[in-house]
Amino acid sequence: MLRLVSTEAERARPAVLLNPIEGDPTDADSHIGGPVLWPIDEPWPTCDGAAHDPASGAEPFVGAVQLYRRDFPELPFPDGADLLQVFLCTLHHDLPHAHGPDVRLVWRDSTTVFELIEEEPEPSVQEEAYVPTVNVLEPIRFAERESKVSGGTKIGGWTPWWQSAPIEFECADCGAAQRQTLSLATHEPSGDDVEWVFGREGNLNVFTCAEDVRHSIAVHVD
Ligand SMILES: [Zn+2]
Ligand SMILES: [Zn+2]
Repeated sequence: MLRLVSTEAERARPAVLLNPIEGDPTDADSHIGGPVLWPIDEPWPTCDGAAHDPASGAEPFVGAVQLYRRDFPELPFPDGADLLQVFLCTLHHDLPHAHGPDVRLVWRDSTTVFELIEEEPEPSVQEEAYVPTVNVLEPIRFAERESKVSGGTKIGGWTPWWQSAPIEFECADCGAAQRQTLSLATHEPSGDDVEWVFGREGNLNVFTCAEDVRHSIAVHVD
């Protein structure tokens, strides 16, 4: 029997548009820009400032996105984790492929968090373009084809390349290929933008190691 599989179909990857809309989430919700589930006895992530442009001192990261496994089972959660927390250092950084905020991922087991931090530390100075507004998420699931890559905030799918030609990233820890995991967008398909701006109104893409998501990530701002 002849199997007709178009190249198009073979190149489809599962993707989820986060589809942010204004809302009032808690630390128990998936969201952008709301309060994060952070235990009182764990040090808050800090950027040492070494890559700041212009140079400045250390600053706390800002809780930017958190995604629970129950809402986003498509994410590559490692064993024991049910919550992905994405932090941004909201200053310009001069990184190899990213003139923009720096990114830190935390893969957490939410069931082990009992007492929460009282107040999230705030940076002494921030680039307004990198500070998210507060949004809840109404995800839209779809198969994304290379010929029609969404530029919206999403998990999975293909990388939206704007200014730069496609780059293949390798894990700095183990050499495995890294995969497109999260894209934060300047513009949403819905028109309800988060009001952050990456690159020339483009995207901030986060690549994770296909072998171990806790390995070093790659950040690409395009
Ligand atoms: Zn920083
Ligand atoms: Zn690796």
